[in-house]
Amino acid sequence: MKWSDPLRLSAYIATIIILVSTVTLKMMGYKYPNTFYAALIISVCTLVSIFLFSHYTVFKKIQTVSDEIEKSLSKKKKNKMGDFDEKSSLDVLNNAVNRLIKEKATEIDTLKESEKYRREFLGNVAHELRSPIFNIQGYVHTLLEGAMEDETVRNKFLKKAANNIDLLSDLVNDLVTISLIESGEMMLEHTRFSLNELIKEVMDLEETQAKEKDISLLLKTENTEVAYVFADKQKIKQVLLNLINNSVKYGKEEGATTITISDMNTEWGIEVSDNGDGIAAEHLPRIFERFYRVDKNRERSEGGSGLGLAIVKHFIEAHKHKIYATSSVGIGSIFSFSLDKAKENE
Ligand code: ADP
Repeated sequence: MKWSDPLRLSAYIATIIILVSTVTLKMMGYKYPNTFYAALIISVCTLVSIFLFSHYTVFKKIQTVSDEIEKSLSKKKKNKMGDFDEKSSLDVLNNAVNRLIKEKATEIDTLKESEKYRREFLGNVAHELRSPIFNIQGYVHTLLEGAMEDETVRNKFLKKAANNIDLLSDLVNDLVTISLIESGEMMLEHTRFSLNELIKEVMDLEETQAKEKDISLLLKTENTEVAYVFADKQKIKQVLLNLINNSVKYGKEEGATTITISDMNTEWGIEVSDNGDGIAAEHLPRIFERFYRVDKNRERSEGGSGLGLAIVKHFIEAHKHKIYATSSVGIGSIFSFSLDKAKENE
């Protein structure tokens, strides 16, 4: 049997009992060696009963509690407990409780962090929804209160209300996309497709908006061959739409947006560059954050939901690639990323 806790405890108590009973019996008039034998018998009986009692009650329970705590600890931490058998059950319990406290403290920190994140997200969503809803409310009520009689005012207000409804719809679509991404429910559907064709398709979609600002859209390929990629076509289309749309939205009148495809061995490099306002260095590291806008005072109707670049970053990272932004104020911005080249059999 190991020198375990109940045995040690019993030995301490038995020694005290031997001493106390020897002194007591001596005082009661018993003589040596009878005094010693009597004390010894009392002590041995006490030792055995304490050992059995403590082993089957207190220490067995301590062991059970330690085992339960150990089970609730994460696997990695459990293995770290190491020389479990070599330690007394109280040491093991102490060790397990300390580890449990540490693990729970980390869990609480993570929960606090996600609670803060959730609160910020809700605040941002409410803030983004508020202005288009208030605007629509204002236009509709003004129309109902008599402005409807005037045809010019009626058309103007209806158009403004419709614009705000479009903003709301874009915002809700972006929110659905972000929540799908962040809940891990977004799946990629890889296919082989021509990047050149997809870029031209997106350029066509953005043409009207670009014309309004007299911005030219150009596709430059640094090789003549068609760039086939193996990626999720819909997600890459959304990436290109957001980037090209931003280049027009933040581009200067009569400016240009150039999309360049370049050969990078196993990958195709894609660059969307404009000669617009540019982004100041202090804002550049934050533009991929959700709801981040450089110009906070900019009219909401001029900008988007503030989720566009966050979605772009998520989509590119889901393809195991990275997106980079470089910019100079007054000169323009460049957004670049790469995608895997499609193999012949894909
Ligand atoms: P938004 O919906 O506001 O356009 P994004 O996430 O697409 O949101 O972009 C975040 C911010 O980054 C924008 O508000 C804008 O200030 C800045 N930005 C994005 N693209 C460009 C660009 N091509 N030129 C200048 N600023 C840009």
